Amino acid sequence: MTFDLPAILTPIDGLDVRYDEPMAPRTTYKVGGTAAAFVEARDEGALRELLQALDRGGVPSIVMGNGSNVLFADAGFSGVVIHLGQGFSGVSCVRDVHGPGHHRLEIGGAVSITKLLRATKELEIAGVEFLGGVPGTIGGAIRMNAGTVMGEVKDSLESARIVTPDGEARWMTVDELSLSYRRSELPRGSVVVAARFQARDADPEMRDRLAEVLAYRKSTQPLQYPSCGSVFANPEGDHAGRLIEASGLKGHRIGDAQVSEMHANWIINLGEATASHVRDLIDLCVRVVDERHGVRLRHEVKLLGDWNGGAS
Ligand SMILES: Cc1cc2nc3c(=O)[nH]c(=O)nc-3n(C[C@H](O)[C@H](O)[C@H](O)COP(=O)(O)OP(=O)(O)OC[C@H]3O[C@@H](n4cnc5c(N)ncnc54)[C@H](O)[C@@H]3O)c2cc1C
Repeated sequence: MTFDLPAILTPIDGLDVRYDEPMAPRTTYKVGGTAAAFVEARDEGALRELLQALDRGGVPSIVMGNGSNVLFADAGFSGVVIHLGQGFSGVSCVRDVHGPGHHRLEIGGAVSITKLLRATKELEIAGVEFLGGVPGTIGGAIRMNAGTVMGEVKDSLESARIVTPDGEARWMTVDELSLSYRRSELPRGSVVVAARFQARDADPEMRDRLAEVLAYRKSTQPLQYPSCGSVFANPEGDHAGRLIEASGLKGHRIGDAQVSEMHANWIINLGEATASHVRDLIDLCVRVVDERHGVRLRHEVKLLGDWNGGAS
């Protein structure tokens, strides 16, 4: 289905709109087709109007942060990809809000984890080191309940501000978001625009631990190739990578997509992979692991865009 997107988007102030925008460069997999429109909302007012207009017009939309946990379809997307702009990029600290030395971080939804860690270092506060090495934004991290061996979002998030498709904005507590292992229960079609995290005085031990974790990741993850990190969530009591390796698929290739030799839960793009190559390899892993081990792997990666059989 096609939509008269200029008629819907042009009247709204505060949007930067690009039509027929290639999405591959906007994802860490570096694959996928074009979006009918890629729309950056400069602030919350513009975002609210945008969501309302898309909702009224029946235009499908998806929100993307840094594109580090997505596989965007080769066929592209006939709707609108929403991106948060400059008005969502602030980081500030409300000091001693929970007692002496116990602070609150207020973070815009578009803030990258790299920028956040730099900002907290300058502010001399601790609390979000557990996100070190996650190449996403705060919005994406909340949607995914991102985490590492050092912890996950739900351990220190207080609340998130969301805008729903009807243009309403409200704060939701961490309990209301029902965060669990790499999942959240955000209201359908809503966008995370800001977050409040617990923080505390700077802790040199946390920074040392973070440096150790990052060094370990560098030696165990194929970071030199485009990827989405772990493709599958680990099943209860096991590791997706172990199951894939035990199924004989480590190193397996379809086109230029390969189950990494270094870490079997990573499917990497050797250079010329398409989204379909990656998708076929994902489906193969699911099928073979199910046949050999009776375990149905759950996607951690989000399939965005116009996929046959639907997106996730
Ligand atoms: C090299 C590498 C290492 C990684 N390591 C880790 C790791 O250690 N731990 C981990 O948890 N993940 C890891 N990831 C995956 C990824 O970085 C995280 O899931 C991250 O939180 C995604 O953030 P993003 O901004 O890139 O979201 P995107 O990839 O853009 O989007 C992911 C999902 O979130 C939704 N979304 C994005 N922004 C918003 C928003 N503002 N509001 C509502 N929904 C939104 C999207 O629609 C999509 O469904 C890794 C990825 C790579 C490439």
